[in-house]
Amino acid sequence: MNKKTVRDIDVNGKRVLVRVDFNVPLDKEGNVADDTRIRAALPTIRYLVENRARVILASHLGRPKGAFNDRYSLKPVARRLEELLGREVIMVEDVVGEIPRQAVAGLGEGQVMMLENVRFYAEEEKNDEKFARALAELADIFVNDAFGAAHRAHASTEGVARIIPGVAGFLMEKEIEMLGRALSSPDRPFVAIIGGAKVSDKIGVIGNLLGKVDTLIIGGGMANTFLKAKGLDMGKSLLEGDKVDLARELMDRAAAAGVKFMLPVDLVVSRAADPEAERRVVPADRVPEEWMALDIGPESAGMFGKAIREARTVVWNGPMGVFEMAPFAGGTFSVARSLAESGAVTIVGGGDSAAAVEKAGVAGRISHISTGGGASLEFLEGRQLPGIVALQDK
Ligand code: ADP
Ligand code: MG
Repeated sequence: MNKKTVRDIDVNGKRVLVRVDFNVPLDKEGNVADDTRIRAALPTIRYLVENRARVILASHLGRPKGAFNDRYSLKPVARRLEELLGREVIMVEDVVGEIPRQAVAGLGEGQVMMLENVRFYAEEEKNDEKFARALAELADIFVNDAFGAAHRAHASTEGVARIIPGVAGFLMEKEIEMLGRALSSPDRPFVAIIGGAKVSDKIGVIGNLLGKVDTLIIGGGMANTFLKAKGLDMGKSLLEGDKVDLARELMDRAAAAGVKFMLPVDLVVSRAADPEAERRVVPADRVPEEWMALDIGPESAGMFGKAIREARTVVWNGPMGVFEMAPFAGGTFSVARSLAESGAVTIVGGGDSAAAVEKAGVAGRISHISTGGGASLEFLEGRQLPGIVALQDK
C-alpha cells in the first residue's frame, strides 16, 4: 500500500483524531445490537493508547440530518467500546467548539475520548471547510480507520486530511491491501461471484472485474436479467427489462476477454416471495409463467462451489437468493460454505453478503470480510475513494 499508516508517524504525546466507522445497529432499548465495527477498530485504538497518543474518536451514526438527536447519540457506542477496550472512554457532548476543545486540553497521554455524532452538523456531509478546520483544530494528526465511509468526501473523512497530516489506521490498511491485491495481483484462478437483487447496482463492479477475473459467476436476482438476455422466460421473477441489452453486452465482453461466464442452471421458484408459498426446483429454462426465481438451485450451487474450491482468489459480492427467508437461503449458504472450504484467498464485500456469511456460521473461515458496503463496491469498481486519496503517500 502506498499510503502512510499509524506505524509511519510518531504519535507519542500527540493529539490524534481517529475517524472510525461506528455506524452500528442499535436495538429498541438503544443498546449496540452488533459490535463488529467497534471490534474492527480496536487494533488501531489499542496501538495509539499503547504508544501514548491522546486519542480523539469521531464517527457518524445513522442519518440525523444535521441536527442533534438523542436517538443517534454515540453514547451507547462509547459504553460498549469502554467494555471492549477495558479502559475509560470519555464521552464529549459535542463535535466541535468549546466543549471538545476543553476536553482535549484535559486529555492525558494514552487516554481516549469520543466526540458526538459528526452528522449532528450538516456541514459534515457538505465537506464544509470551516467545519473541517474546527475538527482539525482539535488534533495534531488525523488517522482514518473508517473504510466504510471512505467513499464519501465528508469533512471528517476527507476535508480534515487536507488540513492536518492524515494516515491510515490498521483496519483501513487491511481493507486496502486485501481488496487492492485481489484487483492488482491476484493468485489465479481468480473467481468473482456477483449476486444481489439488481444488475443496475453492480454494473461498475462487473465491468471492472471482467478485465481481471478468470471466471465470473452471476447469481441472485440479477441473474434473471442475464438469463432473459439468453432468451429464457423468467415468469414473475425480479427482472430489469431495461438492462437486458446491457446483460447481453457484458456476456459478449466476457467471451471476448476469454472469461468463463457462469449462470445458474437451476432455480428455486415460488409462487410468491413468502416462506409459506408453494415452491420447487426447476431447470433455469423452465420457470413457470406465474412463478418467480428466489434462489439458485442445488445443481448451480454445486457447480459454483466447484469453481470456488478450485480458485486461488475469490471475491464475493451479493447473495444468491432471498437469503433473509430460510427456504430461499440454501444457495447463498452453500456458496458461503464453499468459500470457507476453499484454499483460496477469500474476500467478501457488501453488507448483505457479510451478513449472509455470518448467518451461515463460516465468517471465521473467510480471509477478509470487508467492513465497507458501499465503499467496498466502489473499490471493486476500480474507483479512487476520496477518504483514501486524501491520506499521505509513503
Ligand atoms: P450486498 O449488500 O451484499 O451488496 P445486495 O444489497 O446487492 O447485496 O443484494 C442483497 C439483496 O438481494 C437481498 O436483500 C436479497 O433478498 C436480494 N435478492 C437476492 N436474490 C434475489 C432474487 N432472486 N429475487 C429478489 N431479490 C433477491
Ligand atoms: Mg445490500
